[in-house]
Amino acid sequence: MQNSENTQRGTCHCGKVKFELVTDLNPALRCNCSLCKRKGTPMVTAREDSFKLTGGEEFVSLYQFNSMAARHHFCRICGIYTHHNPRSNPALTRVNAGCLEGVDPLALETELVDGAKLSLLEDK
Ligand SMILES: [Zn+2]
Repeated sequence: MQNSENTQRGTCHCGKVKFELVTDLNPALRCNCSLCKRKGTPMVTAREDSFKLTGGEEFVSLYQFNSMAARHHFCRICGIYTHHNPRSNPALTRVNAGCLEGVDPLALETELVDGAKLSLLEDK
């Protein structure tokens, strides 16, 4: 059984981008906004200020859309989404559960965030 709250380490797919965070794994979040429905991965939330990049900062790219308030980060080598800072609270970091070492993202309890309803603008 996975610890419900502890320090987790993760990487993107190619391994350039490395990070760690403290999180309650369960429940992870699933979101149906226009971006998340394409990524399709559950996300965990880092405890305040606990998310740290531990390697590959120079490979982290930023994607923003719509209100341009949320900051979506991904590896520019392998393209994998690693983490983002949501518009609702830019101090918060949500992390791709599939990037975490030893965590099966599909085995986590998940809660749905109705991100589609949060869009300020119609985005297609
Ligand atoms: Zn990568």
